[in-house]
Amino acid sequence: MTGVNREIHLASRPDGWPTGENFRLVETEMPKPGPGQLLVRNQYMSVDPYMRGRMNDVKSYVPPFRLDAPLDGGVVGEVVASEADGFAPGDVVLHGLGWREYALVDAGSARIVDPGLAPVTAYLSVLGMTGLTAYAGLLEVAGMRPGETVFVSAAAGAVGSLVGQIATLKGAARVVGSAGSAAKVERLTALGFDAAFDYHDGPVRHALKAAAPDGIDVYFDNVGGDHLEAAISALRPHGRVAICGMIAHYNAAEPPAAPRNLALLIGKRLTLRGFLVGDHGHLRDEFVREMSGWLREGRVSYDETIVDGIENAPAAFLGLLRGENLGKMLVRL
Ligand code: NDP
Repeated sequence: MTGVNREIHLASRPDGWPTGENFRLVETEMPKPGPGQLLVRNQYMSVDPYMRGRMNDVKSYVPPFRLDAPLDGGVVGEVVASEADGFAPGDVVLHGLGWREYALVDAGSARIVDPGLAPVTAYLSVLGMTGLTAYAGLLEVAGMRPGETVFVSAAAGAVGSLVGQIATLKGAARVVGSAGSAAKVERLTALGFDAAFDYHDGPVRHALKAAAPDGIDVYFDNVGGDHLEAAISALRPHGRVAICGMIAHYNAAEPPAAPRNLALLIGKRLTLRGFLVGDHGHLRDEFVREMSGWLREGRVSYDETIVDGIENAPAAFLGLLRGENLGKMLVRL
């Protein structure tokens, strides 16, 4: 195959909030697969909050993006040429070389998915890393039990919206979510959350107290800062927190002021536990089986916000950080 490929490079590292100037659209030659490789026409790519951390030149659990090189991340696409056993043109694959229209992929890092089983976007959202994060964080990390009260932040986002629904399906007595707009709060109610609030409407601790007057047992943290502080105050004895993300900190120039109430961990015997979804792969089969069943029975709904065109991928990513997404933010290539 000949022609031009387009990809997004990291042009500079942001200080605080990223802008469009940190990205560059670059045209390159169409790559050709060598032995063991596939040429994939990428169809949908994921933009994720963790990518903000990879724009910084710091040591972390994933290496930083390189300057003047394409970014990467989860993506699904169609094989257009294969030099690898077990893959043929027309196969739909999930792989890690997003942020480009065509990708040269080592077959070992691609997984064939079945577009007959679910829309291909589901492999990046509800049935993919996003769904497993919600499932593992709630059930294995926080160890939610039937009859408990669960609070989740960024609840109208990709992970949060699934956390709330899984909690209800697993027998939570009460599920509370926070989100950034009235429309998102309305959506949470439609998804079956027992209570939801817009965190812009006043201090989180007041809103949480009103939504869960008897306290909470589990907090699924996507936000950090004042959300985490409010949750620590609201947690009942032996409560657990799954620390999934702290998006309120990702663009902050200064360390966060909250939480200021960590001493409460002692008397209440609380557990706060950070986790990475990559450590919970042993749950994947169980998760896919259970989530596929819930989807088939119409017991789980998932939202996707889809932005068109590789040239708009940076805007999609920046929009995600500002909360412009309902559910999973994706780019159609
Ligand atoms: P979301 O779809 O939830 O999108 C991010 C959302 O964060 C936005 O929509 C916005 O919604 C909210 N947000 C942004 N800034 C703030 C703020 N200052 N205060 C409160 N809310 C804010 O993204 P994901 O579902 O992909 O990820 C959710 C979290 O999970 C992130 O923290 C991410 O880093 C983490 N994560 C962790 C993983 C792990 O392995 N530990 C794996 C995957 C994700 P709103 O309008 O409500 O403000």
